[in-house]
Amino acid sequence: MAGKLKNCPVCGKLFAADPGTRMCRDCFVKEQETELEVTNYVRDHPKSKIPEIVENTHGTEKMIKRMIAEGRFQQVGVNLTYSCEKCGAPIMSGKFCRDCMAELQREVKGAQEKMTLKAEKEEEARKGHGMRAKELHTKKK
Ligand SMILES: [Zn+2]
Ligand SMILES: [Zn+2]
Repeated sequence: MAGKLKNCPVCGKLFAADPGTRMCRDCFVKEQETELEVTNYVRDHPKSKIPEIVENTHGTEKMIKRMIAEGRFQQVGVNLTYSCEKCGAPIMSGKFCRDCMAELQREVKGAQEKMTLKAEKEEEARKGHGMRAKELHTKKK
């Protein structure tokens, strides 16, 4: 069975969206060509940075970052990186380096714990202490 008809996110044309296809055939071919262009450029200019590549090829920053994350430039022997949005360290995927990611996760976790604690306290206040004791009792199995 053929895939569902969907609008191509690039050109808006209707196309059969088989699993794994993100865009219509035409745009896919065009993207492949652009990726090849970007790969060739990076291979010829291994020291180039993303803005330079965007300027000199048809590639977009988003596309290049995806290609970095997929290890596409390592395949041609170039370790292309871009900067962590927080500290500027060279990274190859995501928005932040491993250190900043760990720090962010700690922050998020801390915030979540605070929220849970607050919610529990509010729940307790709402129910009153007598109810709470009863509930604890019934929960025990
Ligand atoms: Zn298209
Ligand atoms: Zn960082």
